[in-house]
Amino acid sequence: MTEKVNIKEEISLPKGFYWTPVPEALAKLKSCIVPKKTEKKIKTFDSMGCILSRNLFAQRSSPPLSNSAVDGFAFRYPKNGESRIIKITSHTIGPGKFPSEKISKGEGVKILTGGPIPPGTDTVILKEDILKQTSNFEVPTKIKKGENTRNEGEDKKAGELLFKRGHKLRSQDLALLTSVGVLDVNVVERLNIGVLSTGDELVDDNKRAENFQIYDSNRPMIISKLESWGHNTFDLGIVRDCEESLKSKIKSNKGKLDLIVATGGASAGDRDFVSKLLNSEGDLVLWRVAIKPGRPFAMGFIEGIPIYSLPGNPVAAFVCALIFLKPSLDSLAGGTFSEPKSFLIKSNFSKLKKKGRTEFLRARIDPMGSVEIFKSEGSGRISSLSWSDGLVELGEDVTNVKVGSMVKFLPYELF
Ligand code: AMP
Ligand code: MG
Repeated sequence: MTEKVNIKEEISLPKGFYWTPVPEALAKLKSCIVPKKTEKKIKTFDSMGCILSRNLFAQRSSPPLSNSAVDGFAFRYPKNGESRIIKITSHTIGPGKFPSEKISKGEGVKILTGGPIPPGTDTVILKEDILKQTSNFEVPTKIKKGENTRNEGEDKKAGELLFKRGHKLRSQDLALLTSVGVLDVNVVERLNIGVLSTGDELVDDNKRAENFQIYDSNRPMIISKLESWGHNTFDLGIVRDCEESLKSKIKSNKGKLDLIVATGGASAGDRDFVSKLLNSEGDLVLWRVAIKPGRPFAMGFIEGIPIYSLPGNPVAAFVCALIFLKPSLDSLAGGTFSEPKSFLIKSNFSKLKKKGRTEFLRARIDPMGSVEIFKSEGSGRISSLSWSDGLVELGEDVTNVKVGSMVKFLPYELF
């Protein structure tokens, strides 16, 4: 059963400022990227999430030799007019050893899955397809020449292009590279990202929070997300709401980090020092986006260090990390700045929305295969992130979503 959705009337974007539309914000973020170039050779085993700095080619074929796909008997397929009776020899060919046995015409040899197809044979009959404890068998007509074998190089041939530079390696890619003997890879060095939280109300996980304080939820969320995207993170801790502390924290990391991700202090309030510093001493690229949640998101450079200033609210910080930070980091790390992967799905909710801003609703697929949204849009509702499996994106022009409308769903897993 889905809970009743009860969404309060919208608060519109404050007047008197330019609220950058999401597509324009993404274009601005993309335009200021200077990709990291430093290359490193690492073991393929350790390369998960890294971005290739060169095109990669197969070093050997996979499989390197033709081999059996089943447990059975290998034989040379009889030509037209030849006898179809095959006599079983006493040998067994298993995987991991080159077969030295010479198999003659009309002979069949026991072979185990993965065992190299011995010279003189070309076909394997499944062991279940012949009688047990027989000394010979007749090749059934249903069996075709070459059956039950995996041919040398049928997956990849030595020298074949596997991936182009800029490709981000995934678990399955590590398997492919290893199978074709690519045991080391040239990659762009992982990004070194400093992560800090700002706020006088915040308490670290090694202290007990008083009831007027809150635990810092953002750092464990942001740091673990960045790690899962393949980056190195440096925990810069909590910075109090103080311009000097923030400035010195940033400056002390000059030359050590590729960028800093901050949460909190991004709005225009008295104690919002991240946006203040970006406006006063930084090169501001972007501030104030027509997005919900996450409108205070800002990005700019301080002393040449890129600063991605996420909102303090964990929900808004998470959404901005997915929508703005993820493509920026992919691109900074030498990959591509790409749109999140999404698909259209039937909505099981209705909603009236203001034109002119993009909204991301915490959502999940219901048992009927349509999409449902969390009962509240409050961006302090951290539990909504755990409740949901993705976001529904409602573009600027959308004003009225009805039950049954097709909406865009962005699964978290695809970020
Ligand atoms: P700010 O953007 O700094 O005004 O923060 C907005 C609100 O987000 C604060 O009032 C807190 O309730 C919450 N918040 C900010 N930073 C964090 C954090 N690191 N962990 C949990 N909640 C936070
Ligand atoms: Mg704050």
